[in-house]
Amino acid sequence: MLVVVSSLLRQAVGTRIRFEISESPIAPGGENAGLIASGAHSVDATLDAIHTDPGVLVEGTATALIKGQCSRCLKDCLTRVHTEFAEQYYATVDVVNGAPRLDPPAEAQTIGSDFRIDLTPLVAEELILATPFAPLCRADCKGLCLACGADLNLGPHAHEDRTDPRWKKLGTLEGFHADRE
Ligand SMILES: [Zn+2]
Ligand SMILES: [Zn+2]
Repeated sequence: MLVVVSSLLRQAVGTRIRFEISESPIAPGGENAGLIASGAHSVDATLDAIHTDPGVLVEGTATALIKGQCSRCLKDCLTRVHTEFAEQYYATVDVVNGAPRLDPPAEAQTIGSDFRIDLTPLVAEELILATPFAPLCRADCKGLCLACGADLNLGPHAHEDRTDPRWKKLGTLEGFHADRE
C-alpha cells in the first residue's frame, strides 16, 4: 500500500488527497503482498493523506477478507474484517529544496527522500488486531457432530444406535465365549 506524497507536500498545509486501494485477490508479488502475512485474501481501503506541519497525516478505513478456519466446522473460510487507522508521518527531507528537516521524535514514522509512504505494516497490524480469535464460516454454523464428526450443516443428523461403541465390543466378546461352551 504505497502512497506517493511528494505532490501533496508541495501544496499548502491542510491539503488532503484521497487514495482508493482495492485488490482481490492480493497479488503475492505486488505492492500489497505484505498484507498476505496478516492472512488477507483481498483488501479495500479508502484513505486521506493530509499535509500537516510535520509531514503527512494518513487516516482511513480498510475492509479485508481474512483467510481462516471456522472454529465450529473447521472448514476454510473467509472472514470480513473492518478497521480504521491513522498515523502521522514525519517528513525528514524538504520536498522543495531537498534540505534535511528537523529530526522527528523518537519512534516516529518518517518519510524519506523518495516521498513514499508504505502503509502495509500499519494496515497489516490493524487487520490482525481486528481478526476474530474464533472465526465462523457463517454466524449460524452448526459445527460438527460430537459423536462422529459429521458436518451438521449438511442436513439433519441423528444416531439411531445410541449404544456406546465400547459396550458393543464387550457384547462380541461375550458371544465368543458363549460359542466355545
Ligand atoms: Zn463452520
Ligand atoms: Zn454423528
